[in-house]
Amino acid sequence: MAEIIQINNTTWRVEDGGVRFFLLAGAERALLIDSGMNAPNAKEIVESVTKLPIMLLNTHGDPDHISGNGSFDSFYMSPDEEDIYRAHGGLGAILPVEDNDIIDLGNRPIKIISIPGHTPGSIAVLDINNRVLIGGDTIQDGNIFMFKEYRSMYLYVESLKKLSLYAEEFDIIYPSHGSFPVYPELIANLIEGAEQIIAGTAKGKVADMFGTPVMLYKFPYAGFLCDIPENINEDYR
Ligand SMILES: [Zn+2]
Repeated sequence: MAEIIQINNTTWRVEDGGVRFFLLAGAERALLIDSGMNAPNAKEIVESVTKLPIMLLNTHGDPDHISGNGSFDSFYMSPDEEDIYRAHGGLGAILPVEDNDIIDLGNRPIKIISIPGHTPGSIAVLDINNRVLIGGDTIQDGNIFMFKEYRSMYLYVESLKKLSLYAEEFDIIYPSHGSFPVYPELIANLIEGAEQIIAGTAKGKVADMFGTPVMLYKFPYAGFLCDIPENINEDYR
């Protein structure tokens, strides 16, 4: 059963098992950021804390972020995410958002930052006045899914480097998985780890994810679940 937890007067997080999603309230509107994995009633859950009209934005279209989308006729999402979203049975109309778009909730401007890599249309959300970054699955201290189609470690690193350029604009990061919250220093760690994986110098081991063998690279600050390289050294198995 999903649990709603207040962060401050105008911000809540909803803990939905292994994933979390967020509600941001402005003076005129509220924005639900993702809709959980087992929360088809996500809209009802957040209606318990606000009377404002609620819009939905998805950081990306993986199934653990869209379970409550059915309560919305339309929602903000990157158009680059449509294939993944529809492949997981997602319905409704996408209101396309692009890099640098601003959604104003009423004295609470929210900036969209495009960060492809985890998925082609992943986005981060900068809550400008509160100096908070909501980074979806891209910045977290759990195991980051980077295996199977649609993922790109190269784009992932580029996107993290892009987020580093915004370092002056946020003090704290709200992730979808793992510990809550995390801090901007984690971005540099994730870049280093991902670059080691790309270079082939990271130590990994084969792990099982729902019947799919994957490569798990575990660092002190986070893990990455990646496709198994074709030239894998037998020591890693
Ligand atoms: Zn996720």
